[in-house]
Amino acid sequence: MPTLTNTISPQGDAPAVIVPGSPAVPLSYSQLHEQIGSFQQRLAALGIAAADAVSIALPNTLPFIVSFLAVAAQRAIAAPLNPAYKQAEFEFYIDDIKSKLVIVPRGAAKEDAPAVKAARTFGAAVAEVWAEGPQVRLELVVKGALGARAAPVATAEDEDVALVLHTSGTTGRPKAVPLTHRNLTRTMENIKNTYQLTPADRTYLVMPLFHVHGLLAGFLAPLRSGGTVIVPPRFSASTFWRDFTAHGANWYTAVPTIHQILLKSPLPNPVPKIRFIRSCSSPLSPTTFHALEAALKAPVLEAYAMTEAAHQMTSNPLPPAVRKPGTVGLGQGVEVAILDDHGNPLPQGKEGEICIRGENVTKGYINNPAANASSFTAQGFFRTGDQGKKDEDGYVIITGRIKELINRGGEKISPIEVDNAISAHPAVAEAVSFAVDSELYGQEVAAAVVLKEGQKADQHELAKWVEQRLAKFKIPTKWYFTEHMPKTATGKIQRRIVAEEMAKREK
Ligand code: ATP
Ligand code: MG
Repeated sequence: MPTLTNTISPQGDAPAVIVPGSPAVPLSYSQLHEQIGSFQQRLAALGIAAADAVSIALPNTLPFIVSFLAVAAQRAIAAPLNPAYKQAEFEFYIDDIKSKLVIVPRGAAKEDAPAVKAARTFGAAVAEVWAEGPQVRLELVVKGALGARAAPVATAEDEDVALVLHTSGTTGRPKAVPLTHRNLTRTMENIKNTYQLTPADRTYLVMPLFHVHGLLAGFLAPLRSGGTVIVPPRFSASTFWRDFTAHGANWYTAVPTIHQILLKSPLPNPVPKIRFIRSCSSPLSPTTFHALEAALKAPVLEAYAMTEAAHQMTSNPLPPAVRKPGTVGLGQGVEVAILDDHGNPLPQGKEGEICIRGENVTKGYINNPAANASSFTAQGFFRTGDQGKKDEDGYVIITGRIKELINRGGEKISPIEVDNAISAHPAVAEAVSFAVDSELYGQEVAAAVVLKEGQKADQHELAKWVEQRLAKFKIPTKWYFTEHMPKTATGKIQRRIVAEEMAKREK
């Protein structure tokens, strides 16, 4: 039965996790299994049983890893949350899935931290969790609604929900996505196969574990493969290469923003041998793709993922197969179809909605019948909400989110295409285009631009540059120059937010 804990490679003394530091804390596979087992017993003793929701508000640490895997092993539902949320945000998420227990770092109760306050609002229990070397400890600090009675130690099954995460809320209110052990283990297997991960691989985890990117690609898939995951508490450009090299890492996965930060920071000399670099969750401009490959002398593989798919859907393949910048590659253990509004397949090269089918895909959102009714086709394909097409070799090209396409008098414009055209200008560090209301056309194209340090370019020059690359109607008519592009905690661009921020400046 492929449940999370029994899918994690059981090989004894090999290192599963290394927490960098002085001294670094390594944890072998057997130590990890031991920790999960004893933490699960503690949860059972507290009365946590099948289908109980447990929120985990911890940074990337050993306590996160062990709590998460133990909750899932106990047939309960782990709901990781960004530990940096404010009280109101915690309240939204804790209430949305009715958490019974909220796991926080040591000291949080004394400080009456936002997660603790939010738990009290809903009568949820609170446990503090911390590490002593490789041992993870737990102490119940708020009893909340937990009964006095212990629950039996459970054995998880394929169809149990192991994880609930919310979508990023890019296009509206975040939606709660339940993912079963089967969904998660399918993705772990798919990612392992895509990148041919083996016990010899070591990955440096820089994405947060409270989203599918870090959790599945950066953490669970490597553990499925018997490899080692190096787990710093967060991404930091100044310690990245030191830790990467010191612990013999040979790959990492991250959002484009992180690659860009690394490109701007001093590179190690010599550059360590990197087997591949994975980029996912936001569009990687071909300019960044080429700069990264040249600087780090490693193949860059762009992948495409979403919460509802337990992360990965497609990826560019490893060499010697061809990787194509500007595409997200091929379906990887996931069926990918381009469908029209009625759910009918479109011919190769035609743009439509990217739809997916596979064991990794959620069965439907929690408490959201409207979204569930509109998200699946009669053939059981899940509608991603992304617009795209396949090239002659079947590589998927994302042209934008359906909700974010710019509709200029009936002409649908892909904001990603406009972003890429602007970003190719040598003075541009980052560009995000979006729709603005227009009396004449309904909508027109606007762009927010961050220039590279010390570089100059005005809107006339950039418009001329884009004109050489794209049809006239796609050239932004409104330009905003900004020093920082607003992003989510995971480094994703939210066009809606960029548009709102730029509009505010006009007032
Ligand atoms: P919400 O569903 O709440 O609006 P969201 O879709 O941003 O938010 P996630 O599940 O975190 O929430 O993100 C999935 C989306 O991220 C995909 O549907 C797609 O639009 C985008 N995405 C992921 N990978 C890539 C990529 N390589 N290139 C372009 N877009 C990507
Ligand atoms: Mg989405």
